[in-house]
Amino acid sequence: MRDEAVTQIFEAVKGDGRDFLFENEAKELCGLYGLPVTRISVEATEEDAVRAAEKMGFPVVLKIVSPQVLHKSDAGGVLVDIKDADGVRSGYKRIVENVKSHVPDAEITGMLVQEMAPWGTEVIVGSTKDPTFGSTIMFGLGGIFVEILKDVSFRLVPITRTDAEEMIKEIKAYKILEGVRGKPPADQEALVDILLKTSSMLVECPEISELDMNPVLVYEKGAKIVDARVIL
Ligand code: ADP
Ligand code: MG
Repeated sequence: MRDEAVTQIFEAVKGDGRDFLFENEAKELCGLYGLPVTRISVEATEEDAVRAAEKMGFPVVLKIVSPQVLHKSDAGGVLVDIKDADGVRSGYKRIVENVKSHVPDAEITGMLVQEMAPWGTEVIVGSTKDPTFGSTIMFGLGGIFVEILKDVSFRLVPITRTDAEEMIKEIKAYKILEGVRGKPPADQEALVDILLKTSSMLVECPEISELDMNPVLVYEKGAKIVDARVIL
């Protein structure tokens, strides 16, 4: 049985007339399945954002929350590594200006303040729904590996631990995860855990037609989901 809080997220989104989750809602959902998401809070005004950032601790990341802006950085809606309160104030203004110039009719729902995750190896975990076979789960390395080389692995959900381990090993760029040129190896156990928990979430949430966790940053120990998008 899935948690009542999961149903409440979907109900709130549908009640709002949307067919997609804002990043904060998607991360809240992922968090309910034990997935390692960044700490986040959605704020209305510049001063609210400053208070939230001070409470969270610097550096922080600011991101636009708008129903018209699904690809946030394309609209200048993401600023990373903000180091102090003045940075939050100027960053807030800059993001609002950027978004207004890229998407003139964008409604601004709020500003997402989140913990800045340290740099790591970028991977992607995603899902689409096949009309015949149901939800798939996808794994790949971030950036050019997915976009240009289409170096990804797929399974239908639910997956087993062995499936998850194989998904990671069968991408062509697997060597990068093992550590190359003095770079430490990535925590594959953390990735297996993310794949298994994502599979459970997809099985329990037939509402999800598309999922995109891009990027997930993987470290020598642990991993962090820094962006998540869910389409219903
Ligand atoms: P988009 O909607 O454009 O995909 P993202 O949320 O993925 O926006 O942010 C764009 C980029 O900013 C990410 O690919 C990542 O490199 C960086 N980023 C976003 N959030 C964080 C974070 N919390 N910590 C560190 N880097 C981040
Ligand atoms: Mg992204």
